[in-house]
Amino acid sequence: MIFNIQRYSLHDGAGLRSTVFFKGCSLHCPWCSNPESQKASPELMFESSKCIACHDCLTASDNGEMELFEGKVTMNPRRRQNTESFRDLCPTKALQIIGQTQSAEEICRIVLKDRAFYERSGGGVTLSGGEPLLQADLCREVAKKLKKENIHISIETCLHVPWKNIKMMLPYVDEFLCDVKHCDPIVFREQTGGDLNLILDNLKKLSESGADIRARVPIIYGFNHDEKTVEGILDIVESNEAIRAVDYMPYHPLGAGKYESLGREYSLPGHIMDNEEIENYIKITELRKIPVTIGG
Ligand code: SF4
Repeated sequence: MIFNIQRYSLHDGAGLRSTVFFKGCSLHCPWCSNPESQKASPELMFESSKCIACHDCLTASDNGEMELFEGKVTMNPRRRQNTESFRDLCPTKALQIIGQTQSAEEICRIVLKDRAFYERSGGGVTLSGGEPLLQADLCREVAKKLKKENIHISIETCLHVPWKNIKMMLPYVDEFLCDVKHCDPIVFREQTGGDLNLILDNLKKLSESGADIRARVPIIYGFNHDEKTVEGILDIVESNEAIRAVDYMPYHPLGAGKYESLGREYSLPGHIMDNEEIENYIKITELRKIPVTIGG
């Protein structure tokens, strides 16, 4: 279940890359800028600004997924969605189905089109999501095929999966980009619904395996935007020798509009954090002699 294959990406690892986005995540972080990645099944996304009110989707709505409200076409997120009724239906793509099944062969055929760019830029392919390792068999198939073609492979993961899903990727992945979001299991569970101890256990095993790891740390108001928490995160980084750098990812609300398009609420403030706001974290990271970047 894939929801996007983005070509010419510059932010998901070294060089020019293609990023394959797997759908479905075992965490539900309220700041997620790709909320369409969280649910494992296909879902409808409706952008009202693109709608020309042709009413084709109303005719196709057996379950009342799309309806007229105060004279305007709207999506009713409370209805069970029969997404296939809407495939290739909307003339303006105001209404889209997010998520489709794709085979490892199809994914590789698409990303290998840009092999020349990867070779020239020192790039490759990044497996991302959602949480790609929830679909570990597909991930491994893709990575195995690409490794045979000598493509550099990175994976972006929150590590909130069984260890066996990570272990099976070790022979094929060149670089693990691992989220380290917090150091307190209680706060972590409250905000993301996840088990921090599972993540830390996986991180330790991954580090001991000798994998090449970068830690990705989102900086989020009301969650980890304080020195004590960042110091705690850096303690975790230092205790795992294979982590070679930290990438701070300042909070931005760029995904906020997607929540509305999915019929969900966005609960975080709309303030754009600039790099200066995390300058202090850069300093305390450098004091520990840990290589650090902002924005990945
Ligand atoms: S099919 Fe597309 S353009 Fe037509 S009413 Fe539905 S959302 Fe609007």
